[in-house]
Amino acid sequence: MSYTSNFKPFNSKVLSIEPSATLKVNAKTKELKSKGLDVINMTAGESDLLPPQWLVENLKLYSSKPGVNLYKPTAGIPELREEIAKKYQKYNGVNYSKDEVIITIGGKHAIYLALASLCNDGDEVIIISPYWVSYLEQVKIVGAKPVVLETDSRDGFIPDISKLKELVSARTKAIIVNSPNNPTGAVYPVEVLKAIFEIAYTNGVYVISDEIYESFVYEGDFVSFASIDEKAKDMTIVINGFSKSHSVTGWRIGYACASSEIIKLMDSIQSHISSGTSSLVQYAFLGFLDHYEEDIKSLYVFRERRDYIANELKDICSYVPKGAFYYFIDVSRFYNDKIRNSVDFCEELLDKKLLSLVPGVAFGDDRYVRLSFACSMENIKEGIKRFKEFCESL
Ligand code: PMP
Repeated sequence: MSYTSNFKPFNSKVLSIEPSATLKVNAKTKELKSKGLDVINMTAGESDLLPPQWLVENLKLYSSKPGVNLYKPTAGIPELREEIAKKYQKYNGVNYSKDEVIITIGGKHAIYLALASLCNDGDEVIIISPYWVSYLEQVKIVGAKPVVLETDSRDGFIPDISKLKELVSARTKAIIVNSPNNPTGAVYPVEVLKAIFEIAYTNGVYVISDEIYESFVYEGDFVSFASIDEKAKDMTIVINGFSKSHSVTGWRIGYACASSEIIKLMDSIQSHISSGTSSLVQYAFLGFLDHYEEDIKSLYVFRERRDYIANELKDICSYVPKGAFYYFIDVSRFYNDKIRNSVDFCEELLDKKLLSLVPGVAFGDDRYVRLSFACSMENIKEGIKRFKEFCESL
């Protein structure tokens, strides 16, 4: 059946969503792998470690408990909401209560629920570039307009506060802050978070603070946006989750913390759209605070990996990520007649060296490529060797 004739058009908001620029490189990576070629894949947005053993045991234990199989409160089971609130009291210096926490289908859905709760058609949401691509598309899906504030590696990908001020208008509803950042690995200094807070607060603008990489900070301490000022808590929606910290990206569990008014709105949407995330996965996380410090310690391997790459790439990339598990490398000086942009660069790198990276255009900056170090040290060594050889050949 053709929809082109007398049928009404599809949703224009959804039609405006860009297809992912990573798909082409991903398809090619899979094709080469299926041919048995020794492809090094450094595109992963997820930890290569296994989930902690206590968590796997808990999952098994709860799977046979009567009642766990049934529908649960759509905002999440109260015991886990309570425990997440305690985590913020103990480790982040923010006094959340259970009613200020919602458990969601990953951090991604928490961001969507936040945007959908805040935005009216035509509202503006400021996004700091390079950005995690779903921010842009989710803003469009809820009918708002993304307004992009650019940063680059010369400033450590830290936003220029005077530029931010200029972008705030009467229509600005929210600013999305992501520190530690995907794809850049930037961790915003507290003064920058405070400056963003001042601008947002004085303009009545909410901050959606995506803190999913909280446990991956290599220099200094992590600071939650909600903790930087007494007044920050109620205008901030903190997004977090277990995907990255506990290596369970496929289990789909994340959460948000915000004022109980905002959490109620988010729950109201969640109750009609999905009824919340898996009951079993939520039960499995009960008691996570008892293992928290030990689990976070197991992530220290990422620091060793980052340090290794920093040393190996010092001539190619002087910018060293302070958090998350990505290197965002400016390769624009290697562009030529054949390699005109980041997609060409990644395709040629894959062809010539069997190394797969994500083109920077997927994150809003075509000068860069993203290299993930969420893979074994053996793969990192081989991948970095191939990357250097490729750059030297250009
Ligand atoms: N925010 C950022 C910046 C991310 O990189 C990701 C995962 N790639 C998410 C949110 C979502 O994580 P999840 O939905 O798996 O919890």
